[in-house]
Amino acid sequence: MEPLGDWRRTHWSSEITPALDGTTVTVCGWVHRIRDLGRLVFIVLRDREGVVQITIPKDKVPEHTFEKAKKLIREDVIAVRGKVRFYEKAPNNVEIIANEIRILNKVSPPLPLDPAGDVDADLDTRLNARIIDLRRPQTFAIFRINHIVLQSIREFLTNEGFIEVNTPKIIATATEGGTALFPVSYFGRQAFLAQSPQLYKEELTAALEKVFEIGPVFRAEEHNTTRHLCELVMVDLECAFATADDVMNILERLIAHVFREVKSKCSKELKILNREDLEVPGTPFPRYTYTQVLELLREHGIEIPWGEDLPTPALRKLGEILKGPYFITEWPTESKPFYIKPKDEDPKVSESFDFMWGWLELASGGTRIHNKELLIKRLKEQGLNPKSFEYHLRVFDWGMPPHAGWGLGLARLLMVICNVRNIRECVLFPRDKSRLVP
Ligand code: ATP
Ligand code: MN
Repeated sequence: MEPLGDWRRTHWSSEITPALDGTTVTVCGWVHRIRDLGRLVFIVLRDREGVVQITIPKDKVPEHTFEKAKKLIREDVIAVRGKVRFYEKAPNNVEIIANEIRILNKVSPPLPLDPAGDVDADLDTRLNARIIDLRRPQTFAIFRINHIVLQSIREFLTNEGFIEVNTPKIIATATEGGTALFPVSYFGRQAFLAQSPQLYKEELTAALEKVFEIGPVFRAEEHNTTRHLCELVMVDLECAFATADDVMNILERLIAHVFREVKSKCSKELKILNREDLEVPGTPFPRYTYTQVLELLREHGIEIPWGEDLPTPALRKLGEILKGPYFITEWPTESKPFYIKPKDEDPKVSESFDFMWGWLELASGGTRIHNKELLIKRLKEQGLNPKSFEYHLRVFDWGMPPHAGWGLGLARLLMVICNVRNIRECVLFPRDKSRLVP
């Protein structure tokens, strides 16, 4: 092993082009492939951005450089300084003739995965060796797109006048009733990991008016599905002086903006993922009421009693009928959390929506109740104790504006953009019932 010393990368591998012919460069990365032809060694060096061929001919490079090249194996970490040479037969018509090599670290074989391998390993093997998996272009592409998605969400919402906030993840009471919480011990007291920033973001509308948060939430999901994890990143938004319609409008424009940005900034990644067919969805997205959706399902042979949630087989069927993005609005009040506003003229139905993409729910939202008495009534109707919401309810005495908002699952959005089936592909280190490491 040798120190990095004063060597710094001058170029990413992808920046080494024939135009640099004759220039001395320093590249850093991993030994992607190595071919030893006796008096000539070829290394394919890989960094985050791609690969470049390093050529080490015995009679043209210093003796110690040639000796070092001979010792290398796949995934060793190296830095190479040498001269760029235009060479038609090399990949990208360019190679680097190594003058000096620094071996920065050696691997300990065998490696559980081969990033240069053409055979796809199964998901568990890949997740168990996620760091190596991320060296594969297909995996990295998803997370580069994730980065652009996050960046474009922040950009869009900032331009719309929203302020990014961070709310506590260790909380004293359940947000939405007793579902699926992780208890934590907090200096001898019982606390929980937050399942949503719902109550905090609502309270914040009474001061900051328009807020959003991008952060982790925790749900003790019992079942292993391809769309549920126990730790997920939610994009949450809440807006004062607005209704469900207003925030649906923001959401669909946000989604179109994100797609537009990904399409223009991630063409390389979309190609790697065979997703060049990605289209920016036209707005407004179709809207169907819950009752209309039940009728649609009935026409296709699925009978669901009014008031019930849509079970997975019904969602699957819906995905066959309705492709792409759409909203399901006006859900039964009973099927939604206590803070969702019932319609004034028909309280059985609520001012709520789910944002869907085919069969997959991407977001839920609605107009919230801002009247304290009604909120207490709804809490009780849902079997919750207003006492445990004391701190939250107090804020409703301090001038709570009418407000509305939504929560969007980041990884589910990524599933749609990247066209992958399992949410675990879209989270670096996914947490499910059986997976707590790595
Ligand atoms: P589902 O019905 O799919 O279980 P939900 O209605 O319980 O979701 P919400 O409370 O509405 O979920 O959360 C808002 C969004 O967060 C969902 O629309 C979804 O995109 C995402 N989401 C919810 N639960 C999970 C989870 N366990 N794993 C990943 N994403 C989730
Ligand atoms: Mn939901």
